[in-house]
Amino acid sequence: MNVSYQSTRGGESGLSASQAILKGLAEDGGLFMPTFIPKLDISIEELAGMTYQQTAYEVLKLFLTDYTKEELEYCINHAYDSKFDTEEIAPLVKADGAYYLELFHGSTIAFKDMALSILPYFMTTAARKNHVENEIVILTATSGDTGKAAMAGFADVPGTRIIVFYPKGGVSKVQELQMVTQKGENTSVVAIHGNFDDAQTGVKKIFGDKEFAKTLEERGFQLSSANSINIGRLVPQVVYYVYAYAKLVQNGEIKNGDEINITVPTGNFGNILSAYIAKEMGVPVKTLICASNDNKVLYDFFQTGTYDRKRDFILTSSPSMDILISSNLERLIYLSAGCDAAANKAFMEALGSTGAYTVTDEMRAFMKDFVGGYADEKTNAARIKALYEETGYVIDTHTGVASAVYEHYVKETGDRTPTVIASTASPYKFSHSVMEALNGDQGDKDEFAIIDDLCKAANVAIPNAVEEIRNAQIRHTRESDVDDMEKTVSEILLSK
Ligand SMILES: *Cc1c(COP(=O)(O)O)cnc(C)c1O
Repeated sequence: MNVSYQSTRGGESGLSASQAILKGLAEDGGLFMPTFIPKLDISIEELAGMTYQQTAYEVLKLFLTDYTKEELEYCINHAYDSKFDTEEIAPLVKADGAYYLELFHGSTIAFKDMALSILPYFMTTAARKNHVENEIVILTATSGDTGKAAMAGFADVPGTRIIVFYPKGGVSKVQELQMVTQKGENTSVVAIHGNFDDAQTGVKKIFGDKEFAKTLEERGFQLSSANSINIGRLVPQVVYYVYAYAKLVQNGEIKNGDEINITVPTGNFGNILSAYIAKEMGVPVKTLICASNDNKVLYDFFQTGTYDRKRDFILTSSPSMDILISSNLERLIYLSAGCDAAANKAFMEALGSTGAYTVTDEMRAFMKDFVGGYADEKTNAARIKALYEETGYVIDTHTGVASAVYEHYVKETGDRTPTVIASTASPYKFSHSVMEALNGDQGDKDEFAIIDDLCKAANVAIPNAVEEIRNAQIRHTRESDVDDMEKTVSEILLSK
């Protein structure tokens, strides 16, 4: 059955998957959603025997219905290859009773690789299918991980350019080094004087500027997005939840049909929304535990029904979750309002103008499978240390938030349902904070000395992604004020 895509704000409908992926964001500022969420048309028993790549095909074919089988297989096989350092692509590790789904085995060692390894193939295939002649310019706001993962995917891909905006001072040392040393003639990295929300809002504003789009069009450019506002990011993230469930069955950890819970360290709400979509496709999921750090706007939302971003933005040791405007929540708001685009639009306009909105009781009832939790800095560090001391397993600071929230959830509820915890980054990406959790203050010790300490503690080989930046040359030094982001894009694209 064909799936078409429409904006959550009602301004556009009837797009094919490839058209929605090319656009990234709808012209009315909304996000693209499929007209319905398809059900898996294959049994868990069959899925249990499948590789990651085969599972990916079974999920993707249901959403990207205008891509041929050959096109999808081409995208999948080029994305999930030896760039990943494990054949399983997304291995499950059991520690202290929970199943850590390791999503960081791709080339930039964070879960963003799971979708951004395949997005460039979706995009170039979409451009061919839709006879696009312009160069596609990927504009990306990053809280630290998306930027690098997107550049790794798009570097030197013919017909594309990529510009990444990251918050100066708001990312880890390793994250920053990974970005500013990025190679590729078509890549640009810009440090903005602001936080992630400023970067994301700035990018959305550029997308909304019709005059600018016209100027770009005249020069042979069109914009798209690699952020999780692009539906081409979300759908590949559904795959690993389906895969994880099937593997738990195959390994005899659960019986087919048993329910699981899923805990996700959350920022922009993309990853946990993908888990929700997996549930809607037929994976037996009971509760979705949405874990936040000190920027606990989502916790408060699930607690009260009011989303209120009017609060201080707190820089934490889990910077990829330092977000107050979780873009993908809009998709859940839209669904919970019965796909009423006008209602959703009113909520989003209220968020823009007053900084808050309150959903109805019916909408809250619709979201009953979501539970919010949060962990502050101390709780997170204590959890990382305790898990290490009990099991020898080292997790990163984002996964630490999820693990701490999960532990608290079990204590509060007594709910012992088998639980998958999304492990979203390698501890090496946040070595400083992880070693601080394990061993106390690291002072101004050199980052690579800390990395070597972590290697001894964790007894896990240092990933290539880290070795690569040890001596790499810095190639990007551009900075921009938030108000000048569009001007900066102009300079990069049009000044030659
Ligand atoms: C992006 C990111 C998150 C948050 O994921 P969302 O899909 O934005 O909710 C969590 N952990 C890490 C390591 C990330 O890079």
